Amino acid sequence: MSADAGRPSRCLLVALGPARLHFALGHFTRMTRRDIRVLQKRVRCFKCGTEFDGYTEAPDEGFGYAHQLFECSGCHTLFSRSIEDEHYGGSLQSRIVGVSCPTCAGALADTLHKVEFAGVCPGCGQRDYAGTDEAREAVISSYQLYE
Ligand SMILES: [Zn+2]
Ligand SMILES: [Zn+2]
Repeated sequence: MSADAGRPSRCLLVALGPARLHFALGHFTRMTRRDIRVLQKRVRCFKCGTEFDGYTEAPDEGFGYAHQLFECSGCHTLFSRSIEDEHYGGSLQSRIVGVSCPTCAGALADTLHKVEFAGVCPGCGQRDYAGTDEAREAVISSYQLYE
């Protein structure tokens, strides 16, 4: 009698098992967003003429705090890592394996790529642009690949 009474709760534990595993695999990985210092450039789209702001890596001041920029090819969400992360944080591939983009849920192992210039035309979605070399420092929020 008492052995039977213990059964239901044991079944419940088994039922919860796969869900917990799913969670551990990183499907719900939360990435930290942080403000980073970059250079902001005003450019003009060749295709449709829209002017927009894009971002490039700020020069490092010798402390390894400057950030390299990355984008998700599925949704153009911005990601970054510091130069220090690159040296001491292990390979990028090992960081993003099994991790989904917080915006479009694409697999970052497939969609993440490093960019010299972050930003696409808000008018037509193209990357065909011209700009001046004028740049000013700006602070923007981006997902941290190493946190
Ligand atoms: Zn994405
Ligand atoms: Zn355009």
